[in-house]
Amino acid sequence: ASASIDVRDWIRDIPDFPKPGVLFKDITPLLSNPDAFRTSIDQLEEQFRDRGVDVIAAAEARGFIFGAPLAVRMNAGFVPIRKPGKLPYATIAQEYALEYGNDRLEIHSDALAPGRRVLLIDDVLATGGTMRACCDLVNSTGAELIACAFIIELSFLGGRAKLEPSEVFSLITY
Ligand code: 5GP
Repeated sequence: ASASIDVRDWIRDIPDFPKPGVLFKDITPLLSNPDAFRTSIDQLEEQFRDRGVDVIAAAEARGFIFGAPLAVRMNAGFVPIRKPGKLPYATIAQEYALEYGNDRLEIHSDALAPGRRVLLIDDVLATGGTMRACCDLVNSTGAELIACAFIIELSFLGGRAKLEPSEVFSLITY
């Protein structure tokens, strides 16, 4: 059944969200359909199954939705990357620029180490700021970053260039 599913058909456009002029890609139709959701995880697993990935890392909140099932499917561990103050143990932090101001992401200081082979995942690649910060966090631990993977890439925003020299893979490109 999943061979006939086109993941693209399960993404909904929401005009003017979260503010006027933005066309938001809503993944909730995909999540609510079991065949579509499973197919998105299948396709990511297919792409990376032979790459020796042993850790999936992802930023809250939507990265978790895809990262955790992908980790189980790939027999990999899962490492959460979180907003400031959420992780209970010692953390490493990375600042990144938002459209207005800055934000920060954190990872547990013992979550990764040299020799770990890490796949980063998020739902959407837009400007690339979020994933750039995630790459910097992974790199600062000495772990090996295998690639950055996305369900959706908004290519007109140029986020891919910001992630160089990392490999970037997306299921759907607009
Ligand atoms: P960036 O940092 O690449 O500009 O933005 C990516 C982050 O914002 C991702 O974590 C993603 O969840 C969220 N994001 C930006 N635009 C969209 C969108 O159109 N749809 C969804 N679902 N998330 C978005």
